Amino acid sequence: MKAVLFYEHGEPEVLQYGDFATPEPGPGQVLVRLKAAGLNRLDLWARAGWPGIKLEYPHIPGADGAGEVAALGTGVEGWSPGERVVINSNISCGHCEYCIAGQQNRCKNWELLGETRRGTYAQYVVVPASNLYPIPEGFDDRTAAAAALAYHTAWHSLITRGALRPGESVLVVGSSGGVNSASIQIAKLAGARVYALGSNAEKLALAESLGADFLIDRSKEEDWSKTVYLLSGKQGVDVVVDNVGATFPLSFRTAKRGGRILTVGNTGGPKFEIDNRYIFGKHLSILGSTMGTDRDFSTVMDLVFSGKLNPVMDRSFPLWEAKAAHERLEHGEQLGKITLEIP
Ligand code: ZN
Repeated sequence: MKAVLFYEHGEPEVLQYGDFATPEPGPGQVLVRLKAAGLNRLDLWARAGWPGIKLEYPHIPGADGAGEVAALGTGVEGWSPGERVVINSNISCGHCEYCIAGQQNRCKNWELLGETRRGTYAQYVVVPASNLYPIPEGFDDRTAAAAALAYHTAWHSLITRGALRPGESVLVVGSSGGVNSASIQIAKLAGARVYALGSNAEKLALAESLGADFLIDRSKEEDWSKTVYLLSGKQGVDVVVDNVGATFPLSFRTAKRGGRILTVGNTGGPKFEIDNRYIFGKHLSILGSTMGTDRDFSTVMDLVFSGKLNPVMDRSFPLWEAKAAHERLEHGEQLGKITLEIP
């Protein structure tokens, strides 16, 4: 099969388009013929590497993918070749205490497609049958692939973990990334008032089109915690979605008493200083999570398929131009999700 491979960590140049043996589905697994893959920051990090990361080379990046069932491993029931599917990239063991409790994203043997296993920048991928979800007729592969990881992650963080309720206020720190734009839409769908913080007019216009009620330009408002405080009638917000990290000190100031800070990542770097007085003094909770449960996946994909949540689509590149796609994401030139079309 054709695939995008890399043999060492590095810049986008390490990505090669070439041939790799088509995988075969083992017991309980399904071979998926991919038609579209979606890019996530995770793909850039896996390519660049981090201390302690161990990949089996050549590695194939990509967590998000959609296509059709090509072949079934032994013991797989309920699927047949040709059925259109989107992939849940969280691979869990199904038998540890967390999996039994329905918390697959806390699995003791947790794996992630495109990170601990070869991913979706390829014509074929093998995944457990339980990681497939059907795509309804008329819904395109590209949008399904683009939605999967970002909406799954944002849904788990805001709804399952963050218990967002109608009438609450939410500040989303950053507004153009996949998870953040999904967070704005999900918060609106949940009946919340949304404050979006963006770095320029174009990104804020996107946040507004997604339903954000208040727009704050962080290039003009250095102390945006004060701006949000004033905009909220000197209340602060119930929930801050902060996937930047370095912005935590301002997020603590922006949260109201009893507020929740939700985080699923740190695009601004993993380490920063915390002033603990805010945490106990304001009764704040920091709620971290990674990806989502199987139930979150089906719930959020149904909302995407029914048009209640709409992924913002950026450019699509053919699979062999994955390097250019990575450069676009790395430079932050995208508005919405970048996808790859798979021949
Ligand atoms: Zn498990």
